[in-house]
Amino acid sequence: MIEFKNIEKYYGEFHALKNINLTFNQGEVVVVIGPSGSGKSTMLRCINGLEDISEGELLIKGTNLHGKNTNINEIRKNVGMVFQHFNLYPHKTVLENIMLAPMKVLKQSKEEAQQNAEKFLDKVNMLDKKDSYPSNLSGGQQQRVAIARGLAMGPSVLLFDEPTSALDPETIEDVLDVMKKLAKEGMTMIVVTHEMGFAREVADRVIFMADGEVLEDRETVSFFENP
Ligand code: ADP
Ligand code: ADP
Repeated sequence: MIEFKNIEKYYGEFHALKNINLTFNQGEVVVVIGPSGSGKSTMLRCINGLEDISEGELLIKGTNLHGKNTNINEIRKNVGMVFQHFNLYPHKTVLENIMLAPMKVLKQSKEEAQQNAEKFLDKVNMLDKKDSYPSNLSGGQQQRVAIARGLAMGPSVLLFDEPTSALDPETIEDVLDVMKKLAKEGMTMIVVTHEMGFAREVADRVIFMADGEVLEDRETVSFFENP
């Protein structure tokens, strides 16, 4: 569903992604690990079009992400992203945070957007907080809202950039449980994380990056059995 073909990414002189060739298949959960600065976040941001690539081809469902006639907004509808720091709008309620993009981008009516938002809030066990503001929620609760927001656009893949790294230990499990549930339901997920328990238990594949390169790309069982 997503294909990296000879991708190079430069920030000025800095070579951040070096000849990346990868395929992500529908329904797969792939965990990406590697030291800080190895290019994990850059890779995710290339997939959702937040970053341009310098060379190579990035195909999403057969469409070249950086083709001349590609509508980047069409691609973004297909690619949801969950950030380390939630990025919720502080002056909007939980419900409003989730309804915003579907109304604006997908042109959903207010009623439809609200119905959908409530459905996804229920999925992440946050429906009872729908009228709260983000600042009144724990980090783990905010992150579950952010996941619901990602789902509300109906994406074919959800990207997670260190979704639990900024959380208090006691709220991490709730977020991981939601992610496990999505994986079971067949959601395609690419997850940058340090949570090796999650990787072992949930991932189909583990990719190890260092210094802008993919050094390992293996099935989870093989990854953990022959380190
Ligand atoms: P990771 O997610 O593995 O920690 P990143 O993808 O965030 O790595 O960063 C990879 C490298 O690219 C780092 O050395 C980082 O400093 C650099 N980098 C990331 N974003 C930019 C940017 N916008 N401009 C310049 N350098 C960047
Ligand atoms: P995260 O770990 O949440 O990905 P980072 O601190 O790596 O956050 O990056 C935050 C932002 O700063 C990103 O938009 C990235 O592009 C930018 N950035 C990261 N490293 C550099 C850098 N060396 N020079 C310029 N911008 C950078």
